[in-house]
Amino acid sequence: MVRRDFLAASAAAVTAAIGGGLFFRSATARAKESYPVSLSEEEWRKKLTPEQFAVLREEATERPFSSPLNNNKSSGLYVCAGCDTPVYSSEAKFDSGTGWPSFWEPVSETAVGTRSDYKLILPRTEVHCATCGGHLGHVFNDGPPPTGKRHCINGVALNFRAGATTAS
Ligand SMILES: [Zn+2]
Repeated sequence: MVRRDFLAASAAAVTAAIGGGLFFRSATARAKESYPVSLSEEEWRKKLTPEQFAVLREEATERPFSSPLNNNKSSGLYVCAGCDTPVYSSEAKFDSGTGWPSFWEPVSETAVGTRSDYKLILPRTEVHCATCGGHLGHVFNDGPPPTGKRHCINGVALNFRAGATTAS
């Protein structure tokens, strides 16, 4: 009994240490990058809803099938909910069946940036808004032609702007 309690406590301590370490590294990496739109944490908290803040600024993931944008088939642009910059177009949207809005390419090469995310055991490609650094989602290599990419995006990180499908 004593031994098992000890092991459980050790496991909890290790988990806490890993979680804390990753959080620290993530915050450090973000701090080194600079973006055209740059607000303090307090300013972001005022500007965004709690859900938007959790995803855009803390890299949370929304529940699948929770975003009304998931089934949106209208023509238009998806803009970053943090800074209003177009990041995806309805022209590259497809139904991935995952429960998150999915796109096979960003609206332009420069609209988003990527980096490796080690939150899970295997590294994933994190994708964020190139203008404000807000976390959008992840990119996987199981998307449809012509790119084969699947940008799996949190709907709460996006606002939809009906109309033109290309960023001017
Ligand atoms: Zn942005």
